[in-house]
Amino acid sequence: MKYLVIGCSSAGIHAMEAIRQKDATGEITCLTKEQDLPYGRPLISYWLEGKIREEKMSLRPQEFFDRLGIRLCTGVEAVRLDLANRSVLTATGQSFTYDRLFLGCGGKPIVPPIEGLKAVPHFFFHTLADVKKIKLLVTPEDKVLIIGGGLIGLKAAESLTSLNARVTVVDLAPHLLSSIMGAGAAYMVQEAICAQGVEVKLNNSVAAVRMIGPRELAVTLKDGVQLMVNHLVVAVGVAPNLDLVQGTALSHRRGLLVDQHMQTNISGVYAGGDMVEFREMLSGQQKVVGIVLNAAMQGRVAGYNMAGFPLAFDGSMVCNSLNLFATNIVTMGESTAAGENKEILVSRPAPGVYRELVFRDGRLCGATLINDAERAGILRHLIYKQVEVDEVKEGLLAKTPQLLEIPFARWDEYYRDLTA
Ligand SMILES: Cc1cc2nc3c(=O)[nH]c(=O)nc-3n(C[C@H](O)[C@H](O)[C@H](O)COP(=O)(O)OP(=O)(O)OC[C@H]3O[C@@H](n4cnc5c(N)ncnc54)[C@H](O)[C@@H]3O)c2cc1C
Repeated sequence: MKYLVIGCSSAGIHAMEAIRQKDATGEITCLTKEQDLPYGRPLISYWLEGKIREEKMSLRPQEFFDRLGIRLCTGVEAVRLDLANRSVLTATGQSFTYDRLFLGCGGKPIVPPIEGLKAVPHFFFHTLADVKKIKLLVTPEDKVLIIGGGLIGLKAAESLTSLNARVTVVDLAPHLLSSIMGAGAAYMVQEAICAQGVEVKLNNSVAAVRMIGPRELAVTLKDGVQLMVNHLVVAVGVAPNLDLVQGTALSHRRGLLVDQHMQTNISGVYAGGDMVEFREMLSGQQKVVGIVLNAAMQGRVAGYNMAGFPLAFDGSMVCNSLNLFATNIVTMGESTAAGENKEILVSRPAPGVYRELVFRDGRLCGATLINDAERAGILRHLIYKQVEVDEVKEGLLAKTPQLLEIPFARWDEYYRDLTA
């Protein structure tokens, strides 16, 4: 059996591990367009800050690929997919054939429609190569404008601040991190960010940009204000990378569509990770859940199925856990609270600590915890298992939640497999 894997990050690596676990002799080839050996993408901001060395970012070393008998081709971009002939063409004209194909092409930064953007130099914050470029070109006291106040934009702001750049963040939304939390929690994060000298401009965006000198850009904001900056970082979000899929018979909407076995509509072609949309288990809606754990689980399920061992993926749940400007942030489930029939309860148990719980039909469906991660595991489990918590809502909010607070009658739910 010939397996071909496109993409060597969380999804691709787990797919290959699962294949090799079940098929000791099949031929596995992996193509990745990045030059680097696979690394933890969430670590790129720490590399830029000098907190971690490149060797420590490795997801799997070369020795791993040698041991598993995987032919890894770095710096090789797949540019055309020929589904009829089961082959993939690369940018350098090489052709790779397969019996089973796994697509783990991830996401790619969204480029907003800003007048003049294409004509001026700008950075993304998505790959190790991106942050290496930033390290080379940004010097202390440089003025940097970051477009986008989401998770990636703020990770960029944090690392650029540590390089002594003067950072401004602009975001269209009325508050920061609007895709993962509500305004109350975001305000606390904003306070922490501004205390480190970052300027935040909300309800605003960049209308136009032009070059006015070497290393000097004139930026016009939507509200008419003009800014002079040395660098622009574009971080308005990540979209599924469907470049290879366009023009083929593979079905897609926002992301590539797959069944429970992570197989696409074409037999023998599987996919997982940030390029795929799947049923989000709480809302029941098709979503792209762009987190490492989701990519790894989907890759693993795909790998087993590719090797002939049927396994079903039962859905994703969004969880984020990160530190930003010395503030610990955990968000889980439907933490933005948008939507009907939801009850939102908030507590501030201590200075600098914030807990927001979102309930629907007597069950916890989302949580945002700022500097309050101690009992995150229990809350996550209550969300994941959809345990009825109507009787203990206040208890979950008012003090450190204890497992024993859950009424005995609900323990079956707590330990039940959600898909059973
Ligand atoms: C700055 C930053 C911080 C993050 N922080 C977190 C975090 O704290 N927690 C968390 O869970 N998630 C975080 N994420 C998201 C997380 O990194 C992704 O969800 C995860 O990496 C997705 O894995 P993937 O395998 O689907 O794709 P990716 O990691 O995007 O990898 C895609 C792979 O496909 C390859 N590829 C793409 N197209 C081609 C082609 N045509 N030919 C050959 N190869 C190709 C690429 O080279 C790469 O190897 C963060 C992301 C960023 C950018």
